[in-house]
Formats: sequence, C-alpha cells, structure tokens
Amino acid sequence: ATPTAVTVGIGRGAELGVLIRNGEALEVSEKLTAVVFDKTGTLTRGKPDVTDIVPLAVPEDRLLALAAAVEHNSQHPLAAAVVRRAESAGVAVPASERFTTFGGRGVSAVVEGEEVLIGNQPFLEEHGVAVPPEAERRITALQDEGKTAVLVAAGSGLAGIFAIADTLKPTTKGAVADLKRMGLSVTMITGDNERTANAIAREIGIEDVHAGVLPQEKALEVRALQDRGEVVAFVGDGINDAPALAQADVGIAIGSGTDVAIESGDIVLIRDDLVDAVAAVELSRKVMSRIK
Ligand code: ADP
Ligand code: MG
Repeated sequence: ATPTAVTVGIGRGAELGVLIRNGEALEVSEKLTAVVFDKTGTLTRGKPDVTDIVPLAVPEDRLLALAAAVEHNSQHPLAAAVVRRAESAGVAVPASERFTTFGGRGVSAVVEGEEVLIGNQPFLEEHGVAVPPEAERRITALQDEGKTAVLVAAGSGLAGIFAIADTLKPTTKGAVADLKRMGLSVTMITGDNERTANAIAREIGIEDVHAGVLPQEKALEVRALQDRGEVVAFVGDGINDAPALAQADVGIAIGSGTDVAIESGDIVLIRDDLVDAVAAVELSRKVMSRIK
C-alpha cells in the first residue's frame, strides 16, 4: 500500500500545480542527482522570432517568400517564426510541393519549379550547398549572440540567412540556480548548434551542454548519465523528448507541451514554470524524510 505521506505529497503537489502521476515518481525524485533540460520550449519560451534577415543571392522579400512557402508546411517553432515574419512583411507566399522534413536538421520543398532547402549549415552542406567564408563569419557572429542561424538555399546556391532567437522563460535562471544549490548537476540538451546552445547556456548558468543532438539521441544521452551512476530527471516538452522522458528515472513534462511528451512524463508541470520542478524535488525530500 502507498504510505499516507506519499498520498499527502501527491495532493500537496496538485495544489502547487505539480501533477505527480505515481508515488514512485515522488520517491525517486528524492534520490535525484542530475537534471537534464531540453532547451527549446523548456528553458526557453519556445516562441522564437526572426531577429535578422541576411539576403545574399535574392532580395529580402523574395527570400521571405521562398522560405515561408516551405516553412508553412512545418510544425517547427523556427518555421512559425519565418511564416509570421513573412506575414508581417506582407509578402505573397507562393505554393509549394513535395515538402519533406529532415528531423532535427531542416526541411525542403519545390517552389515554382525550384528546390528550396532550409535548415542548419551541416544540412545544407550535405546537400551540396556551399557556404562562403563571409556568410560563415556572419553565421558564427549570430550564433555567439545566442541566435539560431537558419540558412535558405534556392536552386543550388545559398540564397540568404535568417537569425531566429527565443527568449528565456522568466524563472529559468532562478530555477537552475536553485537546483544547483540543492546539489543537483544540471545539463542542457538540444538539437540546436553548439555555439547558439553555449551562448544560451552561459546566460542561464549551465556549464554542461550537449548540442547538435538528433531527436532519437536524447534518450541515449540520459542513458549515458545513468550508466555513470546518476539518478536522472529529464525535463522536456516536445515529441522529440518522449523517449528521453521515458528513459529518465523521473520524466518531467511541461504542461503546455505536446500530448506525447505529457503522456510520457511521470510528473507534469501544469503551470509550465520550472520553479515547479524545484518545488517537486523539495516536496519529495520533505515527504521521504517523513517516511524514513
Ligand atoms: P531543439 O532540440 O532545439 O528543439 P530540433 O531538434 O527540433 O531542435 O532542431 C534542430 C535544428 O534543426 C534546428 O536548430 C534547426 O537548425 C534545424 N531545423 C529543424 N527543423 C527546421 C525547420 N522547419 N526550419 C529550419 N530549420 C530547422
Ligand atoms: Mg523542446
């Protein structure tokens, strides 16, 4: 039978906006040694905006039109940012066909008979698109500002670059500092590139960063920590995060996240606030000290 204290703890969690799915999650939370965070939508708001447009081979409006034509097919937050920007600029968005997603790297489609590729630099280079040194310097500078560089190729050449930035949730820094103070190690894991990831991690105060992680690799990163003896909580919001949430000793899902993530979580943060992840750990410590 579940000890009364655990039941009371689950009830107390519910009052705090922390949905604890089972008593075991509360028991294991007390033993945690490491917390791994997804970046986009978890540490950051997940509502990024286009901050810079760098037209290279075509005028700015054409670049926006081509990119929006492809991205309106995509569910990705970066895609939404591009589409919103095209709307606010008032450009007419042409039709597209043969839309394809390359998970964690980019997208493509045919627009007005021309193949358009959008994604990160490795993705475009794999498809034979050359990135000149001048463009590369620009990309590096944007990434060092914590922005994600999204490259657009049309035909077979680099047409231009968008810089897209997401803001931190207001309580991210404080929650990370609290977890560290409680003796937990904190890691950030993301599909985004290393420079951007490091710039954002620096702003938050996270030293351990795993960037360029493909969706299917997130769970393996959690597993690697467990193999080193860590008791791991994974906090995430996306479809990509479901396997890592399941692999973790405690999966903590963001309440506004995708259904798949929420279903995979042992604990759900109803208010989307990372302070509540801290509250969950504190609660588990309190409850378990009462049982011992
Ligand atoms: P995260 O883990 O930060 O949510 P993802 O794994 O979803 O990131 O994506 C990793 C990278 O792949 C993005 O930073 C971006 O460079 C590229 N990418 C993925 N989807 C798209 C898209 N629809 N448009 C542009 N770039 C994309
Ligand atoms: Mg995410």
